[in-house]
Amino acid sequence: MALPKHKHSHARKLQKQTNVMKMTAPNLVKCKSCSELMESHKVCKACGKYDGKQVIEMEQK
Ligand SMILES: [Zn+2]
Repeated sequence: MALPKHKHSHARKLQKQTNVMKMTAPNLVKCKSCSELMESHKVCKACGKYDGKQVIEMEQK
């Protein structure tokens, strides 16, 4: 099995990880209840619902 010639230092590894994090854009999907754009697998910021269930109580005017 091919192995890297030189071991990357801890700092080098972290540097690579941050670059990977920058490249991957958040997976945006439309909310089922309010059709607002939201990050998938996260509670909707617009209506506070996740998977059709009210998770956060939103203040309504
Ligand atoms: Zn929503």
